[in-house]
Amino acid sequence: MILIFCAPSGSGKSTFVKHLLTCYNNFELSVSATSRPPRGTEQHGVEYYFLSAAEFRQLIADDKLIEYQEVYKDYFYGTLRSEIDRIQQNGHHVVFDVDVKGGLNLKKIFGGNALSVFIQPPSIEELRHRLEGRGTDSEDMIRQRLAKASVELQDAPFFDHIIVNDDLNTALAQLDELLKQYHLI
Ligand code: ADP
Ligand code: 5GP
Repeated sequence: MILIFCAPSGSGKSTFVKHLLTCYNNFELSVSATSRPPRGTEQHGVEYYFLSAAEFRQLIADDKLIEYQEVYKDYFYGTLRSEIDRIQQNGHHVVFDVDVKGGLNLKKIFGGNALSVFIQPPSIEELRHRLEGRGTDSEDMIRQRLAKASVELQDAPFFDHIIVNDDLNTALAQLDELLKQYHLI
């Protein structure tokens, strides 16, 4: 089974993924390739494979990516075919943390084998508050992320499920309920 998490940046995708990976041992995160530089404590091969723009272009040329997007100006992100193979060989469910366009593309590819979940922030103001609180992005980057968020929120109805991440414990309980419903836990 494929689990696709999408949400405007700062809504809590990484927090949801961390919950899944620490509480259950049958899920694995598909580690994406990106041309953006590492942020905070991020490590190559853990959160992302951090590549130069030239290395990223080579992956595209070699057809190593099942999908990719220029999510922010000059920052490319893409899903490696090899990650999906690796995780499925381990007998685990594949977890994707991708942008909204990427998520909808993956849902199209995997169809009924994929469950797409949109994590919705309570408001744009709260999103700004969380991005500022995370303390990993410049003011300009936060502005770009908020501008993109307003557009991404319009695509929420195209997902299989929407979880509003207001109170974190309530939202994680809803996620667990959903996973039970699909016999994933
Ligand atoms: P994303 O991966 O979607 O960009 P993160 O998981 O990094 O978002 O969350 C952004 C920030 O908001 C982090 O500092 C995280 O700890 C915080 N956060 C996540 N969920 C909640 C919540 N329900 N209430 C308050 N803060 C939250
Ligand atoms: P961040 O810079 O906050 O880590 O990620 C920015 C956005 O890029 C997030 O919405 C994240 O989900 C998305 N993203 C991460 N990896 C991929 C990927 O492989 N493909 C696509 N389309 N988006 C991705």
